[in-house]
Amino acid sequence: MKSKFAETKSAWAGKLKTLSAPLGSQLHSSWRWGIRHWKLLVGGGLVAIIAVVGLISYKNSIQPEGIIIHHTGPLNAEGQPVDVEFLDSFHQERGYGSYYWGRVYHVGYHYIILPNGGVQEGRPEHLHGAHAQGFNSYLGIALVGNFSARPQRSGTPSSDPTPAQLRSLIALSKDLSRRYHIPASRILRHSDVAQTECPGQRLPYRNVVAAVYGVSSVAQQPIVSKNAK
Ligand SMILES: [Zn+2]
Repeated sequence: MKSKFAETKSAWAGKLKTLSAPLGSQLHSSWRWGIRHWKLLVGGGLVAIIAVVGLISYKNSIQPEGIIIHHTGPLNAEGQPVDVEFLDSFHQERGYGSYYWGRVYHVGYHYIILPNGGVQEGRPEHLHGAHAQGFNSYLGIALVGNFSARPQRSGTPSSDPTPAQLRSLIALSKDLSRRYHIPASRILRHSDVAQTECPGQRLPYRNVVAAVYGVSSVAQQPIVSKNAK
């Protein structure tokens, strides 16, 4: 025969059991509910971020309509070589940055051509430029140098573009004009669309355009100078 104490104990144990069972399953289900909602929250957040990145990048994107040729001009690089890195920080100071698929590009040009003919990539071809107001749906190509015919107030010496630079400019423009169906009438100098000397009269523009489209009769002066190898 059970004692009174044992009876009370087993009765309480039974009560506790019936109470704790739904509490346990409630806790379990709210835990699962939490995980499911966290997953939804994180997933939703990711979708929202991708949507915002996509929207801004789409807003900043272009279908290249033409090419605008520049020179970097009389820049004071303080002993630094003028290249894409220099131009990127130079244009960052001027606030030329544009966001495109996870990155901010500061350099305003799409390509930079060094005096040795090396071609450096600036911003992506489908990101609008920051090189010519009203014409930033055109690809900007900048040749490093100062090709102004007039002496500069700054005293910066001017020179001709190097033969290697011109060869690269022609090859690059050929490639771009084929890929984006750019006619000769849309290969322009910066000075054709703005009040500027850029890219300077020492750049043989007409000969470059003629060479891009293989029209030799237009060329009246050699595209590359005599000392070109
Ligand atoms: Zn320019």
